Amino acid sequence: MRYVSLKNDYDLKVSSYITDIINAAFIYVPINDLKTLKIKSNDYVYKEQEIATNVFSPVSGTIVGIKECLNAHNKLVKTLVIKNDGKERFENPKLNKKSFKSYTKEEVISILNTFNLTKIVNILKKIKKSLIINGIEDEIYVANKVMILEKKTDLILETIDFLRQTFNLENTLLVLKNSDTNSISKIYNNVGRYPKIKIKLVPDYYGLEDNLNLQNYLFKENKNISVLDLNDLLVIYNLLKNNKLTTKKYITVSGVGVNSPKVINVKLGTSVIDVLKKVSLKKGKDYIVIINGLMTGRQIDITKLIVTEDLESIFIWKKENLKEDMCLNCGLCYDCCPRGINPKYIHEHQDIAKKYLDRCNGCNLCSYVCPSKIDLNPKGKD
Ligand code: SF4
Ligand code: SF4
Repeated sequence: MRYVSLKNDYDLKVSSYITDIINAAFIYVPINDLKTLKIKSNDYVYKEQEIATNVFSPVSGTIVGIKECLNAHNKLVKTLVIKNDGKERFENPKLNKKSFKSYTKEEVISILNTFNLTKIVNILKKIKKSLIINGIEDEIYVANKVMILEKKTDLILETIDFLRQTFNLENTLLVLKNSDTNSISKIYNNVGRYPKIKIKLVPDYYGLEDNLNLQNYLFKENKNISVLDLNDLLVIYNLLKNNKLTTKKYITVSGVGVNSPKVINVKLGTSVIDVLKKVSLKKGKDYIVIINGLMTGRQIDITKLIVTEDLESIFIWKKENLKEDMCLNCGLCYDCCPRGINPKYIHEHQDIAKKYLDRCNGCNLCSYVCPSKIDLNPKGKD
């Protein structure tokens, strides 16, 4: 397989400060099944109160109704609208903080399970001797992970070391891109206190943010290695060390239509319109909004869009008319596919495309490398 680095056509330097937005007037909490609601209109809810089965309020405030909003998959979802009182009030006094050292691995899994953090629980249950922490961000012009590594360095290292001790691991490896020079120097300046954590630098190849691709790149499909990412570490730290649910999310707001690109730490459930009020935008009609990156993202109407866990970035980008050309049979799309798929063949045989949907991770690298600008991604943008 051929590895590819992405080209930066623009120099979009993201501000080195993180902007916080926690006090939007209204917060929209997606509810999968309205029958599981535990509150009603006009009720007061506390921060982290369970408002429907396995759904916890990110703020304190009053329930004012139900509204349909868009999530990052461009799907309309029912949300509970909370008038945020900005007080972040909790119902019960918080339990005493426990030190990291006092948890057993069974307790860690059980606490994460209580809050339905299934993805992390499944990884921790299968953990054997080695753990990789994936600190790589694939998309150009997205800086969430770089910012986490730079601003939360000690928290990240402390949590990796906690997992190493609690799960009795032989190897813990934090993987970074060798081009992320600022985060590398920040990590190297602090890792001395955690001598058992190893740092691995990898080339700036697109696709390594995907945990399976990274695992295959480093260890050739060794099934005994588990992979977590930086956001998982933040969730574990907040819950076990601070006794808090993670109710905020880092997103990058960037693009040629933004005067000062920045990373924003924003309450889950905030409307994207409220987020953009905090950003200085260029005037003009020739801009479109693309969420979650130029490679795998999609153009979206932001009027109903809210911040959910899977929203990573908002780009204000220029309108472009791309014209597809004839296939040149160059073979680049096949050479570059990290999952060994032949995207050109699938593109030409749509009847068999469904068979490949599970194998394809939707990275869009095939379309990126195609000199004829053919939209090859079998998963499309949905
Ligand atoms: S989008 Fe799918 S087919 Fe295309 S390169 Fe990525 S994994 Fe391969
Ligand atoms: S990269 Fe594009 S032009 Fe080359 S073989 Fe694939 S589809 Fe054809």
